[in-house]
Amino acid sequence: MRAPSPFWVVKCPDCSTEQTIFSRPATTVNCGVCGATLATPTGGQALLRGERLRTLEA
Ligand SMILES: [Zn+2]
Repeated sequence: MRAPSPFWVVKCPDCSTEQTIFSRPATTVNCGVCGATLATPTGGQALLRGERLRTLEA
């Protein structure tokens, strides 16, 4: 049995930087380069504004 990977690599919609974020964040995740919102917390899996490129395997 395998737990789902908790981290996602997402692409910033504004500056195209790839960033690794937690899939279930407690707070809004911002791009470290331009400050754009990348993910919004929902209580479960984050609502992404950027594109999810891949899921990281643990
Ligand atoms: Zn950005």
